[in-house]
Amino acid sequence: MNNEKTYVTKPYLPPLEEFIPYLEKVWQSGQLTNGGPFHKQFELALAEYLEVPHVALFTNATIALVTALQALRITGEVITTPYSFVATAHSLLWNGIKPVFVDIDPVTLNMDPAKIEAAITPQTTAILPVHCYGHPCDVEAIEKIADMYNLRVIYDAAHAFGVQCHCGSVLNHGDLSILSFHATKVFNTFEGGAIICRDLKSKERIDFLKNFGYANETAVVATGINGKMSEFNAALGLLQLKHIDGALAKRQEIDALYRQALADVPGVRCVSGRDELRANYAYFPILLEEDYPIARDELYNLLLEHNIHARRYFYPLISEFSMYRGLPSASPSNLPRAHFASSRILCLPIYPDLPLEIVHQVVDIVRRARPQALVA
Ligand SMILES: *Cc1c(COP(=O)(O)O)cnc(C)c1O
Repeated sequence: MNNEKTYVTKPYLPPLEEFIPYLEKVWQSGQLTNGGPFHKQFELALAEYLEVPHVALFTNATIALVTALQALRITGEVITTPYSFVATAHSLLWNGIKPVFVDIDPVTLNMDPAKIEAAITPQTTAILPVHCYGHPCDVEAIEKIADMYNLRVIYDAAHAFGVQCHCGSVLNHGDLSILSFHATKVFNTFEGGAIICRDLKSKERIDFLKNFGYANETAVVATGINGKMSEFNAALGLLQLKHIDGALAKRQEIDALYRQALADVPGVRCVSGRDELRANYAYFPILLEEDYPIARDELYNLLLEHNIHARRYFYPLISEFSMYRGLPSASPSNLPRAHFASSRILCLPIYPDLPLEIVHQVVDIVRRARPQALVA
């Protein structure tokens, strides 16, 4: 048994000595933030790597989500998913917007487009879906409804770094997409985030908004916030870009190993995307069906006993937290599939240098799990 604890993820770090020259340049220039040379370079390099028109860097994805809603002047009600990290819906409350939750697709666990129309009211102005686990939403169905009702679409793409669907980068869908570069994500800058935008004019407005609303030295044109990414984080991001393809390849290897080893285990469903030309293997979620011998929390605890800390993403649902549960759309009867998934999901460890012995050990525990009474 391994004595060291294995977490669901471990932040990818480049060799420290490779970062030192970047730091020396920051010390030489003396420019620490406010759109310095690394910030400019990183924005351009990211746009090229991700194959997107424009990138606006942020201090984190939560501030980026709040700002994206401001950039598009979203008000009233926004349709979103309860099956996500809490920051998705928090960005709405921070803007005085009412979240309206709709249920998820039972296969991808992303927002079910078929549930959107019934949730639209005269106050609805936008849709805020999440590419959960980096698996693309049904972007075409969502776009169709948005066009029909003249709604804006903002994707929380915090999990979807580098993901391509059949028509190219998934980040090119909707009006804006938001990335997270938090330590726990596939691509990290310690903390960080970005808004992907289609045209220079929206990038310009977003750049004002993340700098207190300053349009120039003397003119403040909006109630902006401080959402700027520092030179330290931008420099690290530039270096991380050199390593990301290698990191994704290692994740792919682990993903394939889990899938193959778990394929014949009754009651274990490896959650998959529907339309990925290039996946990022950000998470390895398994859903325990009714014929799995023990409950999800029992497996979670069994893994913990073996020093494996799997995570229940996403449990509880956002709609269960106190600031949301009073909303009519938060009622469990409106969200049966989200509740089902939330009580049966478990994300297994996956990260580039996860030892393959640990993967085999996790598979073994999942495969052999039996109710306590039978084990004795
Ligand atoms: C991580 C995450 C966020 C928040 O990202 P930060 O960069 O930590 O602010 C938002 N939405 C989802 C779906 C996330 O997983």
